[in-house]
Amino acid sequence: MIRKEGKVRWVYTCKLCNVRLGQVDQFRAIEAMQGHHRSPEHAFKALEQALQPFVEAMSSIASAAASLFETVQSVYAPPPNKPHDPSLLKDRRKWGGR
Ligand SMILES: [Zn+2]
Repeated sequence: MIRKEGKVRWVYTCKLCNVRLGQVDQFRAIEAMQGHHRSPEHAFKALEQALQPFVEAMSSIASAAASLFETVQSVYAPPPNKPHDPSLLKDRRKWGGR
């Protein structure tokens, strides 16, 4: 944002990079703004800010996919290897007794 702070004080401030560039007139302030926008530090910060919602969405999708995977895994998990017949379950020689 370019503001006139005094008689010959035009200041460009970039909120993203926390940068203040003071110039003597508006045109130099505009040129300073354009030069700052072309600089790699501003480009990287803008890119980071632009990708931030995407990263958050990806992390939320990943956690949702993990919970879905756990649900599906619990549904499709093989049943415990024990007979349904209670008389067979009581047979301690075979099903975990002594
Ligand atoms: Zn910047």
